[in-house]
Amino acid sequence: MLKGKIAEISPYLLISGTPKDWPSSCDKKDISFADFHTIDANDLIKVHNTFSNEKLSDSFISKFEDLRKKRNAIMHTVDRRLDLHVTDVIVEILSVHKHLFPDVNWVSARREFLEKAPLTELHSYDYVEPQLIWEFSLITELLKPAHMMEFFDFNKKRRRYICPDCQYESRDSEFKPKTALLEPNTSKSKSLYCFVCENSIEVERTDCTSEECPGNVVSVEYATCATCGYTVG
Ligand SMILES: [Zn+2]
Ligand SMILES: [Zn+2]
Repeated sequence: MLKGKIAEISPYLLISGTPKDWPSSCDKKDISFADFHTIDANDLIKVHNTFSNEKLSDSFISKFEDLRKKRNAIMHTVDRRLDLHVTDVIVEILSVHKHLFPDVNWVSARREFLEKAPLTELHSYDYVEPQLIWEFSLITELLKPAHMMEFFDFNKKRRRYICPDCQYESRDSEFKPKTALLEPNTSKSKSLYCFVCENSIEVERTDCTSEECPGNVVSVEYATCATCGYTVG
């Protein structure tokens, strides 16, 4: 992400070494950018702050350093005693993203990334949405309410509903992503909003037909209960 920010200033800042270290005959033929050695992660912040008008704050720098160390630890360590909590890493990635791109929400950034990923070209776009739904329902379960509010404007403390669109798109009827909230938040509200698919979903306020289920929010399009996930009727 920081590399992207630096590349916005100039991609050439990412090339390390003096011209004599560059690939041979790079001045005579076209050479892919990937063939150049790029600068060390350690130097990214220094380069960014030297050339950018918006300096990165100290708190961001220490967060980035911390994340970089953790990432290195994950990639290089075989030390099982290292107590690295996946939630901490997710929160730090989200903080870094928010700091660098305050106007881009992480769901859209992640969707765009998956659409461009080489694996996607192999599997077609069909795999992007189920992957996204799986990731964000996991994030919703893992993150504390304050973090869900900060990063996704999603109030986890309210009663959460299964998003009928995401449930359908996930192609697994047993999968119940509780990523939707009533909008507005009233007992007569006829709409759910999901922060993952960003859809407003029309619902009927009728009792679920399943005996154990107290739900009364049913998808108009799929006739599924947004509380238990089963088909009503
Ligand atoms: Zn959804
Ligand atoms: Zn139900």
